[in-house]
Amino acid sequence: MSFRSACTHWFALWLFSASVLAAPPAGVVSVSHPDAAAAGARILAEGGNAIDAAAAVQFALNVVEPQSSGIGGGGFMMIHLAKTGETFIVDSRERAPAKASAGMFSPGGLPMVFKLASTTGLAVGVPGTLRGVDTALTRWGTKKLADTLAPAIELAEHGFRVNRILAAEIANDGGRTQLQPETAAIFRPAGVPLKEGDLLVQPELAKTFKLIAAKGPDVFYQGPLAQAIVNAQQRSRSELGVAGTGRMTLADLEQYRVAIREPLIGHYRGFALVTMPPPSSGGLTLLQILGMLERFPLGDAAQGYGFGSPKTLHVMIEAMRLAFADRSVWIGDDNAVPVPRTGLLHPEYIEMRGAQIKTDSRMKDPLPGYPVRWDNVADVQPKPSRIKEESPQTTHFTVIDRWGNVVSYTSTIEYTWGSGITVPGYGFLLNNELTDFNFLPSQDAAVHNPGANDVAPGKRPRSSMSPTLLFKDGKLVAVYGTPGGTTIINTLLGITINLIDHGMTLQQAIDAPRLSVTQPTGEIRCEGGEDFMQPRFSISTQDALRKLGHVGLGAAGTDECKQKMGSVQGIGIDPATSSSYGAADLRREGTVITVGP
Ligand code: GLU
Repeated sequence: MSFRSACTHWFALWLFSASVLAAPPAGVVSVSHPDAAAAGARILAEGGNAIDAAAAVQFALNVVEPQSSGIGGGGFMMIHLAKTGETFIVDSRERAPAKASAGMFSPGGLPMVFKLASTTGLAVGVPGTLRGVDTALTRWGTKKLADTLAPAIELAEHGFRVNRILAAEIANDGGRTQLQPETAAIFRPAGVPLKEGDLLVQPELAKTFKLIAAKGPDVFYQGPLAQAIVNAQQRSRSELGVAGTGRMTLADLEQYRVAIREPLIGHYRGFALVTMPPPSSGGLTLLQILGMLERFPLGDAAQGYGFGSPKTLHVMIEAMRLAFADRSVWIGDDNAVPVPRTGLLHPEYIEMRGAQIKTDSRMKDPLPGYPVRWDNVADVQPKPSRIKEESPQTTHFTVIDRWGNVVSYTSTIEYTWGSGITVPGYGFLLNNELTDFNFLPSQDAAVHNPGANDVAPGKRPRSSMSPTLLFKDGKLVAVYGTPGGTTIINTLLGITINLIDHGMTLQQAIDAPRLSVTQPTGEIRCEGGEDFMQPRFSISTQDALRKLGHVGLGAAGTDECKQKMGSVQGIGIDPATSSSYGAADLRREGTVITVGP
């Protein structure tokens, strides 16, 4: 077994160069935390397949990265089976309870303040992660649920060392670990925030995992544990009173079902992308942006393009603005409201939308387009819904086994620390996923607006999470995904372009600085300020964008590209040798472990 943490990223991981290593197929895990990566590697070393290993990683992440994902949340687990070539997604996204209603985040017609709403029981969706992992294991795994829980139980029972990421999230928690005594007791024992290097032992979480290992997943969805979840989410904030009380009942938990989904497939410059359909907006929006960019020679520095040039960034920003205008009205859970998938990706429609991009000037704020004529969807006159705050702190990991089966899994409790509510006696956090719905309902019969992302009973809130596979000539060449709320889409765009247009290795593609625009109005967020983010977006590049009228970058001559975005864990596969190479993100403690055959 060879171990490589992201701090040794200079070991180049050539994605497309067959000559570098011709090792026989090995298993690889790429995870944002070394202890969770080790959990997955252990299962692979014990003969498990990628699905088994992914289950172990997810449970371990609940222990060592509890602020980002866990059994109190949901996610999208993309599975690619080597034998049949099939790809599908186990959708364990949280669902709105039966008593949820369109206006529940806007009592009296006014939207709640996000921070308040997201830290009450009202925000808690019916959790799906455990059901999702168990479904995947039962159908495609080879190990028992209890075997995959074993590493997590050990980590929770014996403890692990708090890393710099977790310590920083506790220190800068925006109050979220301090609102509920059960949460504070874990992360701020005796009122003192845990710091890097402290040992964190979680006996209640260990007990919960042992219970699940002994009794199976139903123990979570029925009986005393389910009752404890229901009770915990009845908490509200005094400022919101009864309006902030959770609406989940025992019946909602008992009736929770995962969905098995077909992926969305699109093409870019001869590569096929296999990505996430609704209820994620990620795949559709990513493919729209790529479609609009195909007309520009993004890789050609001689024509003024190339990585990070103002010309490249400008056309990327314009395509993002157009696609996000569509996203705001057309995309939601299409089990509840039809999404015009065909139209949004139709070449004629993409051509029409992309034609608005001028290389030498910034367009006026774009409106959503009308892609309905290619789908059996009512001709609506939508008005955009406001895009709310979303957290950058979900998690993504990738696993491949020696047989070539792949899992690419983005998993979340929504905001960092989710709702901040720990289930008393059970030691895990509940999500605040329902805040991904529109706070103000947009459904409007007069103009046929279906309210694609309005709250409704049983519905899944619109997501951006998009585990993605990249194929060339029918062969899988890369697997990646990231957290980051709406910025997920633009981080995945950047990785895809870095690989295909800029000829980067997967590790270089991950290390490169990122830029994101998630509103038609176009406020730019961009990265920099860390040595590994190379090449940078220079001040002169930022000035060139300012000159074109782009917004969000502040005053001329200043360096505003200082943010951090996402955490990409990926795997590249050499099509010639079938060797797999992990690549992980320094923005967290991304770790790659290779398990030899
Ligand atoms: N709730 C977000 C979504 O589903 C995920 C948050 C994140 O990525 O950090 O898109």
